[in-house]
Amino acid sequence: MSQPEIKFTKLFINNEFVDSVSGKTFPTINPCTEEVICEISEGDKADIDLAVAAARQAFKRGSVWRTMDASHRGRLLNKFADLIERDIEYLSQLETLDNGKPVVNSKGDIEFSIKCVRYFAGVADKIHGNTLPIDGNFFSLTRKEPVGVCGQIVPWNYPIVMLCWKWATALCAGCTVVLKPSELTSLTALYIASLAKEAGFPPGVVNVVPGYGSIAGAALAEHMDVDKIAFTGSTVVGKLIQAACAKSNLKRCTLELGGKSPLVVFDDCGDLDAAVKICHDSVFENMGQCCCAATRTFVQAGIYDEFVSKAVELARQRKVGSPWEDVDQGPQVDKKSHEKVLGMIQSGIEEGAKLECGGARHGDKGYFIQPTVFSGVKDDMRIAKEEIFGPVQSIFKFETMEDVIERVNNTTYGLAAGVLTKNIDNALTFATAVEAGSVWVNCYLANMPQTPFGGYKQSGYGRELGPEGALEYVENKTITIAVPQKNS
Ligand code: NAP
Ligand code: MG
Repeated sequence: MSQPEIKFTKLFINNEFVDSVSGKTFPTINPCTEEVICEISEGDKADIDLAVAAARQAFKRGSVWRTMDASHRGRLLNKFADLIERDIEYLSQLETLDNGKPVVNSKGDIEFSIKCVRYFAGVADKIHGNTLPIDGNFFSLTRKEPVGVCGQIVPWNYPIVMLCWKWATALCAGCTVVLKPSELTSLTALYIASLAKEAGFPPGVVNVVPGYGSIAGAALAEHMDVDKIAFTGSTVVGKLIQAACAKSNLKRCTLELGGKSPLVVFDDCGDLDAAVKICHDSVFENMGQCCCAATRTFVQAGIYDEFVSKAVELARQRKVGSPWEDVDQGPQVDKKSHEKVLGMIQSGIEEGAKLECGGARHGDKGYFIQPTVFSGVKDDMRIAKEEIFGPVQSIFKFETMEDVIERVNNTTYGLAAGVLTKNIDNALTFATAVEAGSVWVNCYLANMPQTPFGGYKQSGYGRELGPEGALEYVENKTITIAVPQKNS
């Protein structure tokens, strides 16, 4: 397939594409070929200052945006969703070019993103407070007001999904935003910014400043005129973000961080082939680059051996290759990730896990890795504790419910978990005992626009999607009015 045309490579500030103040650019790489796709304007502190000023101006009392009906914000979001839908073929190609995920998966990401935008389009005029029956001669009410200027920093694994989750929630609540996409995957964010303009969002309501995390991202997190940061990325960087929020102006902060999620298969899971497939998909999806990937597959002793052999068979069948063709798996996103995943595989081998299949680079060009399965994984191995973010399944054996609950919770993370069993007692015992923000029973990765998503423990806090999602973008104000005499 020929490369899609690159239309936008500059910063998007105040509804215009502009060069960076410094004039600097950085390259974005095609992970399939390891070649430069194009240069992108590199934002730094000066550009973040301009974008924040534009977002602040758009948020001023009396502005077009602040005086717009909430229902009209919803209409703009629906128009925005229509435009993404109109350009879905182009956008999926652009995403695949920059990120490397199979084009069918890019399209799936966009379809999901559109649903999320439409969900929050409907929420825009349903964010409201209460009237309160307080003591005394008063009339009291609460109001939910937009937080203000929001900095949003997103990773490279689901670039369009992350952008749409964050914009839809912030905009439905009436905030303005400055987005810092990952330096690895900025192209689709810039194109989608052009669609926001076309949809009719006023200047300054959305801004996109590509650049490096430690420069542009840090400038946003420590900015004195930003009211909130919403961050999705690693736990290490999440901690830096929270510290920057605290040290600057105590801006609000929500963090969607990493995970080491367990998927537990009981002897009574029913159809073993179906269980093996759910576990396979839960870890190999998106080249393993998924925050809630079930990277710890716990299998009960009675079915363990048969499960392992079926899991290996499935991994061997996985088609790896050019994301433009009919494959299951493309390359990892970049050289650094590729090396990190291969290093983690090496540590699994050295620490005594049994390498059942894969374990090496696939081909000699592009950041491809063979689908890899380890059995006999022990809880203290690095592959059991650290995020791998690659196509690597680790299979553990367990005996009892008690034993497995202890073990799945013995992690600093708490993003997601799953259980496969036909026994309702097992399902409910597990679902209530596991320390994770999302629990899936007899399924996995069933994220929908209506379901709140976020972490326990060091997987972060705050929720995206669902009714809770938009509430992360409002301040709660209580207004109490003295009245001559109240009546019930
Ligand atoms: P990352 O290194 O933490 O980067 C995430 C974003 O933060 C990028 O835009 C990055 O910019 C920026 N950044 C880096 N250093 C920064 C700093 N000092 N100050 C401000 N911003 C900074 O994570 P990643 O490698 O892109 O993504 C993978 C991680 O994201 C995994 O841990 C995964 O579990 C997590 N994740 C979580 C969720 C969730 O919802 N919980 C969803 C997806 C991914 P540059 O890329 O330009 O450096
Ligand atoms: Mg790239």
